[in-house]
Amino acid sequence: MATDQKKTKNQKLQEKLFIKKESAWLDLKPEEQKKIFSFADGYKEFIKNSKTERLCISNIVSILEENGFKDIRKVKDLKPGDRFYKNFKGKTLLACRVGENIENIRLVGSHVDSPRLDLKPSPLYEDAEMALLQTHYYGGIKKYHWVNQPLELHGIAFTREGKEVPLHIGAEDDEPKFIIPDLLPHLAQEQMKKNGNKVVEGEELNIVFGHIPINDKDIKEKIKLNVLKYLNEKYGLVEEDFNIAELEFVPAVKPMDIGIDGGMVGAYGQDDRVCVYTSLKALIDVQSHTDTIISYFSDKEETGSMGDTGAESFALITFTSEYIRKTGIDFTWEQLLEHTMSISADVTGALDPTYKSVNDPGNVSYVGRGISIEKYGGRGGKYSTNDARAEYMQYMRRIADENKIPWQTGEQGKIDTGGGGTIAMFLSRYGMDCVDVGPCMLAMHSTCEVTSKADIYSAYRFYMAFFQDGEDV
Ligand code: MN
Ligand code: MN
Repeated sequence: MATDQKKTKNQKLQEKLFIKKESAWLDLKPEEQKKIFSFADGYKEFIKNSKTERLCISNIVSILEENGFKDIRKVKDLKPGDRFYKNFKGKTLLACRVGENIENIRLVGSHVDSPRLDLKPSPLYEDAEMALLQTHYYGGIKKYHWVNQPLELHGIAFTREGKEVPLHIGAEDDEPKFIIPDLLPHLAQEQMKKNGNKVVEGEELNIVFGHIPINDKDIKEKIKLNVLKYLNEKYGLVEEDFNIAELEFVPAVKPMDIGIDGGMVGAYGQDDRVCVYTSLKALIDVQSHTDTIISYFSDKEETGSMGDTGAESFALITFTSEYIRKTGIDFTWEQLLEHTMSISADVTGALDPTYKSVNDPGNVSYVGRGISIEKYGGRGGKYSTNDARAEYMQYMRRIADENKIPWQTGEQGKIDTGGGGTIAMFLSRYGMDCVDVGPCMLAMHSTCEVTSKADIYSAYRFYMAFFQDGEDV
C-alpha cells in the first residue's frame, strides 16, 4: 500500500471523497478481537436458553434482577439512578434506568419472538404405528427447513384444576428430540416438481411425538393412549389440556461458531435475540447517562406486532403513564413519547454471494462491516415502514463516528423484490424519532441463522453509545 507521501493528488482526493466500505475486522488490535469473541460467548450462552418469547423474557428478568433492577409493582416512586422493569404477561418487557433528565427518554426496542412451530388446538393423533402432533407455523418460514430438523419443545399447559405445567423437553443432550420426517428422494418425483412453497405444506408439518403402544389388544389407539398416559403420569395432563396449552417447537440446535476462524455465530432465533442481548447488555453496562434509558423487548413482531404483547399494543402508553405517575413529572404520555428518541433494534438481510441477484450490491449490508443503520425498510414504494428524517440519520452517524463504531447502510432486497417490516413504524407513530439499527445476517428466518461477531459487538457498542449520549437532535 502506498504511504501518504507516495500517494498522488487524486489518490488522496479519492480517499477523502469516496465512501469507505470495508471489513470491521481490519486493523483490530488482538485485545479488541479477544473482546469481540468473549462478548459472542456470552451471547451464545444467552440465546441457548432463550428459544421462545417466554424463555427469553424470563432470562432477561434474571439478568436484570442480578443487576439491581426492580419489578415496578414493588416500586412506589422513581428518581434518577433507579433501575426497574415492567413485565407484561411474561412475554414483553420494558427495562429502564432513570436519568437526571427525567423527561428525556432514549429507547431501544427489539423483539423476543422468532418463527417457530406452534401446535394446533387438538394436535394429537395416531397413524402408522406413531403418535403425531399437528402444527400451525408462526411467522415467516420456508416450511421445507423444518423437516428432518431435530426439534425441542417448550411451553406451558394447565390441568383442568388450574395447575400450571411448564414443559421443556429436548434442550438437554440426554433428552429425546422430535422430528418431522421428509419424504425419501426415491419416492419424491411428484414432490420435487412442486413449487418451493408447496414442497412441504403447512398441513404436512406433523411431528413424530411417540411410538410405543400400550399393551392392550382391546384398545384401538394404543400409541396415542400410551403418550397420554405418559403425559398424565408425569405432568397430570389429559388430551383436552392441549386445547388450552401454549406449546412451541423450535430447532434443537445449540449456538455454534461458524467458519474455520470462528468469526461468525450460527444459531436459531438470532432474529431478533441478537438485538435483545446487545441492547440488554448495553442498558446494564452504561456507566454514565443523563437521559432516562429504556430497552423495550416486544413480542409478536414476526406476525405483525398485533395483539396484547405486540408493539402495536398500548404497552408503551401504559408504561409511560406509570413512569409519569411515579416520577411525578408534569407531562402527558403524548408529550413524553413525542420527544423520545428511539432505535428499532432489528436485523436485516446480508448479501449472500450465492444469491446476489435479489439485492442491489451497492445498497445492501455485508456481514462483518459493522452495524447496519437503515433509514427505512418496508416494501414497494416504502410501505409498512418509518422513514427516518435526515437530521436523525446525521445524529446516528455522529454517534458511530465519535465512538469509532463500524457501520454501514443498505436496503433489504432490490426494489419490489420483497421486503420486511420492523417495529419502527409502531414506535414512530407517537411522533418520536426512530431508525432501524441492527446487525445483518445470512439465512434469516431459517433454523440456523448466521451473524458476524464483529457486527454483534458493533451493535452492543452502538446501543450503549446511544444511551450515553446526552444531546438532542
Ligand atoms: Mn426481526
Ligand atoms: Mn423476522
